[in-house]
Amino acid sequence: MSTVNLALPAVQVREIRINSITGYQGDADGLVAASRRGLKDKSRSFSQCLGCATSKAACMTILIQDGAVVSHGPVGCASCLHEFAFTYRVNSPLRGVESPARRRIFSTNLTERDTVYGGSAKLASAIREARGRTGANAVFVLTTCAAGIIGDDVESVCDQAEAELGIPVVAIFCEGFRSKVWTTGFDAAYHGIARKLIAKPERRRGDVINVINFWGADVFSDWFAPFGAKPNFITPYSTVGSLRHAGESAATVQACSTLGSYMGAVLEQDFGVPELPAAPPYGVAQTDRWFRALGKLLDKEEIAEKVIAEKKAKYLPRIRELREKLSGRTAYVTAGAAHGHALLDISGELGLKAVGAAIFHHDPIFDSGREENDQLAQRVGDYGNVPNFNVCNKQEFELVNALNRIRPDVLLARHGGMTLWGAKLGIPSLLVGDEHYGMGYEGLVNYGERVAEVIENDEFVRNLAKHAINPYTRWWLERDPDYFLAGGGAK
Ligand code: SF4
Repeated sequence: MSTVNLALPAVQVREIRINSITGYQGDADGLVAASRRGLKDKSRSFSQCLGCATSKAACMTILIQDGAVVSHGPVGCASCLHEFAFTYRVNSPLRGVESPARRRIFSTNLTERDTVYGGSAKLASAIREARGRTGANAVFVLTTCAAGIIGDDVESVCDQAEAELGIPVVAIFCEGFRSKVWTTGFDAAYHGIARKLIAKPERRRGDVINVINFWGADVFSDWFAPFGAKPNFITPYSTVGSLRHAGESAATVQACSTLGSYMGAVLEQDFGVPELPAAPPYGVAQTDRWFRALGKLLDKEEIAEKVIAEKKAKYLPRIRELREKLSGRTAYVTAGAAHGHALLDISGELGLKAVGAAIFHHDPIFDSGREENDQLAQRVGDYGNVPNFNVCNKQEFELVNALNRIRPDVLLARHGGMTLWGAKLGIPSLLVGDEHYGMGYEGLVNYGERVAEVIENDEFVRNLAKHAINPYTRWWLERDPDYFLAGGGAK
């Protein structure tokens, strides 16, 4: 059954739409099997912190070059939005964008008084002001818990503003309390963009492939060139115009199936753009499959085989050397769902023994409904099981507990807040924010060289561990990491 319904203003949350969970402790194999037969979430009787869907929706709208974003809520809800403005500037050269436009972020600054009398008038005036001050080609309105609780009719205000200003004004329903799975915020942003920006295609362009991603380096221009195509990135560094034409592309690929699950399905089901039926290309075996699937989809299978053969001849010798060097070392991974699985792929390919993982949530199936997109199943199939597999929505106390008892040779991560715990415990820790860095055959060389470097240069973390104060008590460190899962604490 389709999970896409663009007639509705808000997207369904992930836990209802695709049965995503945020609590699990076991092994990867068990999680894959459970995902096929009806996965049940486990709740926590204690929780340290959670991400917010608003910030995820922001991350997919703030980086649109000619847009403006209005956070409709108390000003504090907009405080995390600057983080993406920073990322946007720092990463723009990776994308070949030398002078990114200034970010335009506004807040309606709802006060206690507004929660009594309503915030719609304030929102209407903020949209007008955002457009007037910036000349943006679209305004994205992000809802927050306060706006949701008082029941402002955000959709109507946006529709009226759109008629008045003559530009798309996109209501994005991403209140933090709507979902325990904060990636629902990505879906909410894509839902709004698909409803208001993407035009119904009048033609199909064989030379453009949509790439749903964050802000990673542009590896795709080179990869697509032999196929006579170029990437259309969704959404960081895009423009309102480039998004409008996303429905004309020949295909959609993803850098992370968790990120693009919903948008990939929307583009396929509502705009006729086929989504590549393959998990992203991490590890040799999956990169082979990915290029083959791309060749088949574009009806250019011979080109795919040529690309695979050339790249393998170039990179496999170095990958083998790195595998020899790293073989037998142990790795622990922490990252968002599918990207965490990708890091487990990379570690498997590089000969590292994966001894555990703390992954922020789990999607048993993506919106496409295709099992070929299941990166964890593919990882288990290609490189074997992963023990100590913890689904924990950034519960740092669980990560510290697991790292303290497992003590891997290296921690592989993509989020700074989690990586520091490895360093504090004296574990060499590698943080790579560019999600494309380890992609493809060349990515294994990139990533493998960094891992080897981090393991060899461990003096800093060893010294840090001697002076770092661990805020967690011995009592907690002696408990099992899943002590508080499913009402634990009574065990
Ligand atoms: S969870 Fe709610 S109150 Fe907190 S930042 Fe997100 S929208 Fe604002």
